[in-house]
Amino acid sequence: MRLKREATNFTHVTSFSAVGFRSIQRFFKSSVFLVMGLFVITAVARPLSAQPPITVQSDTLDDSGYPRRVTFRLDVDAPAEITQATLHYDVSKVSCLDGGATVPVTIEGDNLQWTWEMVRSGNPPPGTAVTWSWTLTDADGHTLTTPPQTHTFTDIRYNWRTVEADNLKLHWYEGNVGPTLLNAAVDGLERLENEMGIELQAEVNLFIYGDTADMRDAVLYIQDWAGGVAFSEYNVILMGIPPSLANTWGQDVVPHELAHLVVAQYGRSCVGGSRPNWLEEGLAVYAEGDPSPEIRADIERGLANNSFEPLRSLNGAFSAHGTEAGIAYSQSYSTVAYLLETYGREPLQQLILTLAEGKSTDAALEEVYGFNVDGLELAWRAHLGLPARDIPPTPTPINPAAIPTIVPEGLPASLPTPPSAAATAVPLTNTPAANPGICNVGLIPLLLVGLFFARRRRI
Ligand SMILES: [Zn+2]
Repeated sequence: MRLKREATNFTHVTSFSAVGFRSIQRFFKSSVFLVMGLFVITAVARPLSAQPPITVQSDTLDDSGYPRRVTFRLDVDAPAEITQATLHYDVSKVSCLDGGATVPVTIEGDNLQWTWEMVRSGNPPPGTAVTWSWTLTDADGHTLTTPPQTHTFTDIRYNWRTVEADNLKLHWYEGNVGPTLLNAAVDGLERLENEMGIELQAEVNLFIYGDTADMRDAVLYIQDWAGGVAFSEYNVILMGIPPSLANTWGQDVVPHELAHLVVAQYGRSCVGGSRPNWLEEGLAVYAEGDPSPEIRADIERGLANNSFEPLRSLNGAFSAHGTEAGIAYSQSYSTVAYLLETYGREPLQQLILTLAEGKSTDAALEEVYGFNVDGLELAWRAHLGLPARDIPPTPTPINPAAIPTIVPEGLPASLPTPPSAAATAVPLTNTPAANPGICNVGLIPLLLVGLFFARRRRI
C-alpha cells in the first residue's frame, strides 16, 4: 500500500507532472502564437508608422526655358491619393515686403509640376537664387513639406568666367576683360569707402556681356536701348561692355553702376524715401575717380557763361537731350564734391539716411546742413565764385521720385542704363526721351548715364 500509495503518489505526482507539462506546453504554444501574433502585428504595423505616407522620388527645377520660364517638378510615391499640393518659392533679394509666393498646383497623379511664366512677371536676373518647397496632403490627412531646395539662375548661353574680390564677383565670357574691370570695381569701392565712408554691405554679382544685345536678351522687358541694368534689390549688375571699350568706357561705367548699388544698399528705404537725382548721380560720378576732362570742361563752361541749371531742377529726371544731360551729370558731380570736400563725409552719410526716412530733399538738407536745395545751390555758387542767382522766395516743390510701386513677385527692379555710343547703333535721340517716366520709378535713376558716357566718348 505504501508503495502503491507511493506509487500512486508517484503516479499522481507523475500524473500531476504530466498535466503541468501539458499546461506549460499549452501555455508555451499559446505564448508562441501570442508572440508570433504580436510579431506579425508589429511587422505589419511597423511599415505603416515608420514609412512616410508620401515619399519624394525627385524634386527638381528645369531652367532650360530661363529667362522666359522655369518649371518646378516633384515626383512622389504616394500610397494614398494626393488631394492638395502647393509650391512655395522665394528669390534671394532685399525687399521691404515679406518675400515669396505660394501657388496652388493642379494634381495629376504622382507627378506634380508648376511653371513660373516669367514672361508675365518679368525675370529675376542671372545670379539670383531661388528657393522652393512643396507641401502635399493626401486622402488620409498626411501632410508632407519637402526640404527647401535652392537653384541659382544662370544665363547658360555663354561660358562664363569669374574673377572675385571681397564681396565682388565679376563674370564675363568675351575677351579677357574680367581682371581689368574687376580692378575698376575694386577701385570704385575703395573710393566710396575712403571718401564717403560708405561700404558695400552684401555681395554683388556683375555680369559683363560682350555687347548690349546679348545683355538685353537676358532680361525680359528691358528697354531696347539699355546698355546696362542695375538690379538693386538683387545686388546684380548686368552690363554690355565690348572688349574694345573695357579700358575706356568700362573703367567709368563699372564703378558708376556699382556706386548706385552701394548707395542703394546704404540708403534703402521702406517708407518711400528717395534721393534727388543730383545726389544719386553726383555720388556715382564721384565714385568714378578724378573728374574727366569732359567734366572739367563742362564746369569751366558753366562758370564762364554762368549757365548752370537751377539745382532744384536736377532733383528729378535729367534732360533727355544728350548734351544737357552730360552737363547735369557734371553739375551734380560738382555739387556732391562741394558737400563732401566742405562738410566731410559724415553729414553726407546722414543726408542719405535722412532721405531714407522719407524726408523731402529740402527737409533732409535743412536737418543735416541747415540749408535747403536753394541754399545749397547758393553756397555752391559762392564756393565757385559765381554770383548769387535770383531764386523765387517760394520755390515750387518738385518731387524727385515717386514712391515705388509694389509689383508682383519676380518683376525686377531694374535700372537700365543706355550703352555707350560706341556700343550701340541706336540713335541717342530715340533713347530716354521715348521713356520719360522711367526715371521716376523711385528706384535708382540711372537712365541717362549712358548718354553721359556716350556724349563724353563722342567729344
Ligand atoms: Zn548713374
